[in-house]
Amino acid sequence: MTNLKDIWEPVLKIIEPKIGRRHFVTFFNNTALLGINNGVAKIGIISVFIRDWIDTKYRDMILDAIRSFDSSVIDLDFEIHSVLSSVEDLRSVKIVDNNATTARSKSKTQGRKIPNKEEVNVQGIRSKRLNSRYLLDNFVVGQGTRLAHAACSAVASNPGSSYNPLFIYGGVGLGKTHLLHATGNEILKRHSNFAVVYTTAENFVNEIVEGIRTFKMNDIKKNYRKADCLIIDDVQFLASRERTQEEFFHTFNELYDNHKQIILSSDRAPRELVGIEDRLRSRFEMGMMVDVGIPDYETRLAILQQKTMGHQAIIPLDVLEFIAYNIQDNVRALEGILLQAIAKAKLEHTTPTVKMVARYIEKFDAKVEIQGDIHKYMPANGSARTIDDVIEVVSAYYKISHDEIKGSVRKREYLMPRQISMYLCRVELNQSFEKIGLEFGGKNHTTVMNAYEKIKKLLDDDYNLVRDVNAIKREMGL
Ligand code: ADP
Ligand code: MG
Repeated sequence: MTNLKDIWEPVLKIIEPKIGRRHFVTFFNNTALLGINNGVAKIGIISVFIRDWIDTKYRDMILDAIRSFDSSVIDLDFEIHSVLSSVEDLRSVKIVDNNATTARSKSKTQGRKIPNKEEVNVQGIRSKRLNSRYLLDNFVVGQGTRLAHAACSAVASNPGSSYNPLFIYGGVGLGKTHLLHATGNEILKRHSNFAVVYTTAENFVNEIVEGIRTFKMNDIKKNYRKADCLIIDDVQFLASRERTQEEFFHTFNELYDNHKQIILSSDRAPRELVGIEDRLRSRFEMGMMVDVGIPDYETRLAILQQKTMGHQAIIPLDVLEFIAYNIQDNVRALEGILLQAIAKAKLEHTTPTVKMVARYIEKFDAKVEIQGDIHKYMPANGSARTIDDVIEVVSAYYKISHDEIKGSVRKREYLMPRQISMYLCRVELNQSFEKIGLEFGGKNHTTVMNAYEKIKKLLDDDYNLVRDVNAIKREMGL
């Protein structure tokens, strides 16, 4: 049994100098090696967009590096751990050649933390961790979610008394899980001694199955009944699981009778659930049922603005508008597109453009027809192809003449646009330094090279310049 950390840390040390500090921090900061099984190394990653980047850009590099420590590895697999807040726990996982269940019980006996999204946080219950990023405060309230949000707030201020159970239902990606975590977090904030248990119905089923197998049902029963607030996400997964439903029914009754709060979510209303016993369904209907609906355009835009906060990236409003306009019925997708654009912009030191996100949207779902107004956001007259085109656009942008931009007068008003033009000719048109020098009044190629290096460096942290260059690129049709 090798400690995975002993492999992953040196692997990261190999990768970091190869890709540079900044990219390393962006992509590898929240990663961990979760296990090696049958030649497949499983990497834990914080989000889908990081996974996609790592998968396309760094896969071979990672594989090579891991193989220098464990030559049995022939492939990589990724697992997303968005609920995980501390990667330290992951890093301390040991390799076991069995399934996750064994990994958990072994680490428990070793007194380690649970190496997964789950942890034993309430007297032996294997609860999933509450995600501290999901708060009632950062949930954008719109028409479709006003009631659900209000119900959650009410429950958080008075758990176990006002709405019990609270049953939240609605389509995918509309904020149910967010609200569940947020309510749990708020309850803990107000009652720090409360045992708040959050888990998914799927996890609950697995635990019951395991409990039966290992004759530990009594412990599990007892433990769940100690919760002050039990939150179960996606109860539609209980469908046709008779034994789990039976256990849940008794747990529910016991908690309910003791005025403990129960919060549930589902993809549909109780009466539309199939494969759920009637007695359980009627329990679900006993308290408050609220649905979450599709957010309207203004709400979608507000959500995007909210999600942009905290990222050190400039996202032009037209880009946000464009995403909000085109992605209508799934907030998760809305956020996904935004995060992709932010990641790409950070990597390439530009601000995202409408054209860029239009491509992501099409890739995300070929069925989405980019609505209307992409042209509103794009220059009508094609894209810049020649050095003269670039000079044209940049001089118009800075309101100086062609001669001033091409000449040799070293006034700041001319110098900066001149250097930006040279930079763009190099980066966007792929022209040689010599050729660019020639077209800019016969300058030496080293002058062009210096201009290119200077702008490139400035773009790392001069956000005004980033904005200008990006605006120019849009004018150029890029
Ligand atoms: P569901 O559980 O209904 O499938 P989630 O709660 O997982 O959906 O939401 C998907 C993503 O969208 C999450 O990142 C969540 O934070 C975000 N989200 C959904 N609705 C809102 C909202 N009204 N305000 C802020 N974020 C939201
Ligand atoms: Mg969910």
